[in-house]
Amino acid sequence: MSVAENFQAVLAGIDDACQKRTVARDEKITLIVVTKNHGVELMREAIDCGATDIGENRVQEAAEKFPTLERNVTRHLIGHLQTNKVKPAVKLFDVIQSVDSIHLATALDKAAASIGKIQDVLIQVNIAREMQKSGVTLEDLNSLIQTVDAASNLRLRGLMMIAPNFDDVENCRPLFKKMRTLFDELKPSRQAFDFLSMGMSHDYQIAVEEGANVIRIGTAILGSRT
Ligand SMILES: *Cc1c(COP(=O)(O)O)cnc(C)c1O
Repeated sequence: MSVAENFQAVLAGIDDACQKRTVARDEKITLIVVTKNHGVELMREAIDCGATDIGENRVQEAAEKFPTLERNVTRHLIGHLQTNKVKPAVKLFDVIQSVDSIHLATALDKAAASIGKIQDVLIQVNIAREMQKSGVTLEDLNSLIQTVDAASNLRLRGLMMIAPNFDDVENCRPLFKKMRTLFDELKPSRQAFDFLSMGMSHDYQIAVEEGANVIRIGTAILGSRT
């Protein structure tokens, strides 16, 4: 199938999942097309098929690709960010989804301030407590939120999570549900806190059913990465 057909199929999949939501919600779903490991031409094709948001997981790769993209699109950093890359990151990305430590938040705030920008960020939560994965644990979440709230050049827009790679994708459902509960608890006391980013090619429908409003799709739209 073509990128255009895949894109439409995912939009249909999102609609389907919205009908099956376990709690009815009147929320727009933002579809991020994850373009990592793909060339600029394919990125353009996705955007020309209707993609409004793209996701990259590495600062260096984005720095190589974005200057020649020549498209108006919202740019998300979805991969782990090292403190020594915060300067290029705040220049390249509209939303940084992978804030997971006080150290990183503080460095990002400083970098954003140095270019006079208010940087939109999400906090990445390691809800499944996976050892090797990025993301803040639930115990450390509140102090990180306080740091981000106090940072004058960061704006906390929501939460992000990457589900574990279970053999049975249904095992992700309780984790998605838990993230939505967390999101709903935090939302009322803050402004512009409206993104819950979870769900990838293999699990996005379950994520949407359980309350994701941002999904990050690579393979299902662009095919497998080399
Ligand atoms: C690569 C990646 C995705 C997209 O994965 P697919 O399975 O190809 O849809 C989503 N989120 C993150 C954080 C990624 O690194």
